[in-house]
Amino acid sequence: MLTRESGLLLEAAPRKNKSNYKRKLFTKADALLLAATAVLAVFLIVFPVLRGMDASKQPKLEILVENTRYGVYPLTENKTIQIGDGNVCEIRDGEVFMVKADCPDEICVHSRPISDRSRTIVCLPNKVILQIIDSDGKDEYDMISG
Ligand SMILES: [Zn+2]
Repeated sequence: MLTRESGLLLEAAPRKNKSNYKRKLFTKADALLLAATAVLAVFLIVFPVLRGMDASKQPKLEILVENTRYGVYPLTENKTIQIGDGNVCEIRDGEVFMVKADCPDEICVHSRPISDRSRTIVCLPNKVILQIIDSDGKDEYDMISG
């Protein structure tokens, strides 16, 4: 009898503790859930804004032919661009490189791809310059390139 009683007592005690522990856990979980929801809400609101800001600040490819702007293209879009009769450049995965050129030296074709403002690709014989620009003057470029 005694052992059974003490056994019951022993059984009851951990159960009580467990339920208390559980209640605390639920409170914590609730707090975490609330926090997670709040964070998610903030991200849902902030992310599109940040994305929009990023898009407006994204660098672009500017093509110059004989020192005149031939066109401005976003680096985010993979694209093959025919430049005049002699050159073809390509935007791929944020990098720009000359695919084809009818110039005799083909230095431009062998130039390493460019992806930032630190370097340019120049085709001297055809007077073609590929360079990366910030789109700070986006509206201006859009107006000029149509
Ligand atoms: Zn060239």
